[in-house]
Amino acid sequence: MQNRWLRGVITIVLVVLFVSTLMDLLNTPSNAAKQAPYSSLVTSMNNRQISTATVDPATHEVTWSAHGKQYQTAYALGYTNDLSNQLDSHGVQVTIMKPSSSGVWVSILGDLLPIALVAGFLFFFFRQSQGGNRMMSFGRSQARLQPDTQGTVTFADVAGVDEEKQELEEIVDFLKNPKRYLEMGARIPKGVLLFGPPGTGKTLLARAVAGEAGVPFYTESGSGFVEMFVGVGASRVRDLFEQAKKSAPCIVFIDELDAVGRMRGAGYGGGNDEREQTLNQLLVEMDGFGINEGIIVMAATNRPDVLDPALLRPGRFDRQIVVHRPDQEGRIQILQVHTKNKPLADDVDLAVIAKRTPGFTGADLANLANEAALLAARERQKRIAMHNFEEAAERVMAGPQKKSRVLTEFEKRVVAFHEGGHTLVGMLVAHGDPIHKVTIIPRGMAMGYTMPVPEEDRYLITKEQILDKVAMSLGGRAAEAIVFGEISTGASDDLEKSTRMVRQMITEFGMSEELGPMTYGSRQDQVFLGRDLMRARNYSEEVASKIDHAIRHIVMQQYERARNLLVQHRTALNQIAMGLIDKETLSSEELRTIIQATT
Ligand code: ADP
Ligand code: MG
Ligand code: ZN
Repeated sequence: MQNRWLRGVITIVLVVLFVSTLMDLLNTPSNAAKQAPYSSLVTSMNNRQISTATVDPATHEVTWSAHGKQYQTAYALGYTNDLSNQLDSHGVQVTIMKPSSSGVWVSILGDLLPIALVAGFLFFFFRQSQGGNRMMSFGRSQARLQPDTQGTVTFADVAGVDEEKQELEEIVDFLKNPKRYLEMGARIPKGVLLFGPPGTGKTLLARAVAGEAGVPFYTESGSGFVEMFVGVGASRVRDLFEQAKKSAPCIVFIDELDAVGRMRGAGYGGGNDEREQTLNQLLVEMDGFGINEGIIVMAATNRPDVLDPALLRPGRFDRQIVVHRPDQEGRIQILQVHTKNKPLADDVDLAVIAKRTPGFTGADLANLANEAALLAARERQKRIAMHNFEEAAERVMAGPQKKSRVLTEFEKRVVAFHEGGHTLVGMLVAHGDPIHKVTIIPRGMAMGYTMPVPEEDRYLITKEQILDKVAMSLGGRAAEAIVFGEISTGASDDLEKSTRMVRQMITEFGMSEELGPMTYGSRQDQVFLGRDLMRARNYSEEVASKIDHAIRHIVMQQYERARNLLVQHRTALNQIAMGLIDKETLSSEELRTIIQATT
């Protein structure tokens, strides 16, 4: 299409050129004058041998006659007047030619022709090299432009992740109406990082954002950048963004970001050079486009801990969205999505299935629905029955991948009381973190999770606040001890955290009575040991044992405090735990209702 247009233009130029040259040829007299150097013109003029002269300003040529012969001499541009005057003063009869239109055309075209030819050649060459030439496109990104029509995913296809969707809504809106945001001078995040366990729907969410906004979706997985040849990764990143810039607004999605985005310089031998170059290129590209250019880079990973900190800096992946495993309600919704086009028997109760599959991810549930359908088909049923779902759930749980951490009934009880303990202590102490919600769905390493509202940066923390935090993190263990009379390994993280807080309180903030307002140990940056701060010991064994003693004393004190609070509010603890066993997640309102009803 473009090619035809170009060919047309070139044809026209050639025709004009040909015609005007022809006209020019016809214009010039056939008895062509002899070319003479400027010096002979001057000599002849000084000797007053010239009778007539015709000056042509268009071609800077003077045609003159002497001794009955015709001569032609070129003169410098802009000297028409000087030359005419001079000739005149030497008694020559001078004629100045009226510029003929064809002559002007010829001279303009004559000037432009080489430029046009060079430009045309370059243009053709570029098109060639971009198009079919395989050799030159080596290393081009494998990223695919997803056709708009095929398999468009929308938010309706992603269930049970309402909070995540809400956060992405803004991105969708921006992609749809960039103008509205630009007019407000708003800055839209360039990079959105989704992290969460495998199978929770990160890839699906990214696709859905593109689908909702109706923009192209370019995707490449992190391992795709570094898979084959050395030096290809960086150029692939470059190509990917080049392609994206051409079709902005659009979404660039990098799956498995950790494959390229691991911390640079980590590990022995300085890490992988190829990967680092790719990562550097990615950083360069992300900095390279403007804030509101309409490209939004999304990435997914289940290892946020290994990512290079440079990736998370402002202007890069500064928006981070945690994609959680779905809770019971979420699992019902996901099951609904994946059974939408399947014939279900009347006895199928998705809520019951959801209740039996704590810890299942969206991918597990999709798998479950499919397994159930397969079973029903094999038994030649007309519809999928409840027992198909039950069998399928067992298969998925025992399946070869066994990705999900599924709690047994007993574990569920332990975790519910443990998390209930944290929550209740947190709500009862004066300076507990406000609690956003509590859940027993496994999150990463921890079995359950009490989610405090994001802590704002506090510059000053009082001793009471630290002690309250310590009590809260010991509340889990205390609840287990009260309810079950025995304790589990589930609290090791809590214990480490509270011990660290207390140690810091004593040695850095000088907040203990025994040891006084002094710091112990000096902070040292030992960069070569990684990013951890080491504390060098600069005190005696005796003081060290005093510190240990003080830490134990404070930790025990807070443990007792948590324990007493829980014993006093045992009804509330029971109700929270039962609520968690039943619904897996309790919101802050539900928690408040329980507390108010029982105290
Ligand atoms: P991730 O990228 O987080 O590993 P995917 O997005 O690849 O997970 O999910 C794999 C499949 O699991 C999806 O194609 C979809 O069928 C199903 N799935 C996962 N999460 C959800 C969800 N929240 N709602 C509906 N289906 C889901
Ligand atoms: Mg994925
Ligand atoms: Zn805990």
